[in-house]
Amino acid sequence: MIAMEALVTAIERCATFDGPGIRTVVYFKGCPLRCKWCSNPETQKIENEVFYNEKEISPITGEYPKVAKLMTLNEIFDIVMKDEKFYRNSGGGVTLSGGEILVNVEFAIKLFEKLKEEYINTAIETTGYGNYKEFENLAKLTDTVLFDIKHMNSQKHKEYTAVSNELILENLEKLSKWHKNIIMRFPLIKGVNDDDVNVEETAKFLKKINLIDVDVLPYHTMGVEKYRKLRRPYPMKTLEKHTKEELEHVIELMRGVGIRARINN
Ligand code: SF4
Repeated sequence: MIAMEALVTAIERCATFDGPGIRTVVYFKGCPLRCKWCSNPETQKIENEVFYNEKEISPITGEYPKVAKLMTLNEIFDIVMKDEKFYRNSGGGVTLSGGEILVNVEFAIKLFEKLKEEYINTAIETTGYGNYKEFENLAKLTDTVLFDIKHMNSQKHKEYTAVSNELILENLEKLSKWHKNIIMRFPLIKGVNDDDVNVEETAKFLKKINLIDVDVLPYHTMGVEKYRKLRRPYPMKTLEKHTKEELEHVIELMRGVGIRARINN
C-alpha cells in the first residue's frame, strides 16, 4: 500500500536556486544522514516534532507549533500547480527536497507521475543515500537531479554525516551512466572537506564519471536558530566561513581537473 500522505516541513514558492527557472520547492521530513552543518535540522527525524518557540504557542491549544504538516498528495499538487504559469514562462517547475527525498520515494514518484501528466518540469535534491532501484525509478521522472557530494574519504564522511559514502558514490556512478542532467553540489565546509586533497579527489571522481557541472555551496549559519528552537545543540564546532579568495582557490582547483565549477550562494 502506497502512503499517499507525507510530512512536509515547508513549501517554498518562487525559488530560483533549486533547479532551472522559477520553482516551487517542497521540503519533506526524514533523512538518514546527520550532517553536522545541516541547515534544515527540522527535516532530519522521520517523525513529527515541535519547535519550542514561546512566541508561536497556539492561543487555542496552548501547544508549541509542529515542525511539519501531514499533507496528501492532492493537497501538495494543488499548491504547486498554482504557479504553473510561472513555470511555463521561466522554464521552471517543481523541486522535491528534504531531508532526503529518497525517504519518501514512493510518494515522490506518485507526485511526479501526476506532474508529468501536466508536463511540469521536475527536479530533486538528493544525497543519493537509498535503494538504487527506487532511486532510479524516481530519477526516470526527474528532469534535473541536484546531487550533493560531501566527502571522498569514507571515514571522514561517517564522522561528519553519520553514514559512510560507499552507497552514495555507487548510486551516483550508476545514475551517471544514463541520466542526462545531473548537477553536482559540493557544500564546502571549513576544516571538513575543503582541503586540497579532498577537493581534487572530488573533482577527479566527478570527471571520471563525466559529471563536470559542479555548484560549490559556501557554508552558511542560517540553520543555527532552528537548533535552538528544537532544543538541540548546534553540532558544528566552528561557524567560520570561507573568504572570497579561499572560495576562488577551490574553484580553480576543480577547474584545473576539468570541472565546470562555480560558486552558488
Ligand atoms: S543530507 Fe541534507 S537534510 Fe540530511 S542531514 Fe545532511 S544536510 Fe541535513
